[in-house]
Amino acid sequence: MHYLGAHVSIAGGLHKAFNEARKLDINTFQVFTRNPRGWKFKPLDDDIIAKFHHAKKESGIEKIVSHMPYLPNPCSPDLEQFQKSLEALLEELDRCSKLGVPFVVMHIGHHKGQAEKGWKNFKIALERAFEVIPSNVMLLAENSAGERNSIGTTPEDLQKILAMAEELGGNSRNFGFCFDTCHAHAGGADLSTPEKFAEALDTFHDAIDLSRIQVVHLNDAKAPPGSGLDRHENIGDGTIGIESFKWFLNETDLARRVPLILETPIRKGGKSHVDDLRILRKIVQT
Ligand SMILES: [Zn+2]
Ligand SMILES: [Zn+2]
Repeated sequence: MHYLGAHVSIAGGLHKAFNEARKLDINTFQVFTRNPRGWKFKPLDDDIIAKFHHAKKESGIEKIVSHMPYLPNPCSPDLEQFQKSLEALLEELDRCSKLGVPFVVMHIGHHKGQAEKGWKNFKIALERAFEVIPSNVMLLAENSAGERNSIGTTPEDLQKILAMAEELGGNSRNFGFCFDTCHAHAGGADLSTPEKFAEALDTFHDAIDLSRIQVVHLNDAKAPPGSGLDRHENIGDGTIGIESFKWFLNETDLARRVPLILETPIRKGGKSHVDDLRILRKIVQT
């Protein structure tokens, strides 16, 4: 059995995510627990928490993933932005603990040309996170797509981050990685054939051990490998391609172990998660 899911909407309330999951017939999903586009958010009240727990119990879905909002950048060299990012991260860990959401995915971020300062701030963010991380939540750093000034694209960067985290109190219960297939491909790990995909996974395994990956973002890519462009594409329509996903889903322990979350485009009058899920169900051997 695979954990096959998608990023779903929380329009109308956080607990509505479970309705979306039911409609898509998925056994795992990802949400933003708040408006992802700003710094401001509504605190969780008891009613929201109770409704979420009730819906969770009814659904039987345990593998729920929260994605950090878009603005926080824990590598920012700008003090004000860094502090706001850190607050948002600590807040999200607390929210997820209250909601019973076990995974918090964060983007590692951009150093804006000040690499040393960026790494230094990221280290501070990790240190603070591990001081307060609740026992029922795991922090997952997502691999970047190799955009200019980003941190966390290469296996080497991820290895450095893992070492840093472990030095600061991270361990296999509270820290891991989210592996985004589009980001890895755009970041230079060519996934366009099963052979190349296997080779790339070996390289990541040597750096961080694949057992540290707790969530996969299953996205095809619009741009060629190594492009540094974070452009997701529907499964089978991009430069990774259907044969690679078929291999990954059926031939790797990773794909059989962790939540596989679609973050593919939803197009007006075109493809949506329904179509991507249909394709995945067609190629997956149970
Ligand atoms: Zn992603
Ligand atoms: Zn992306």
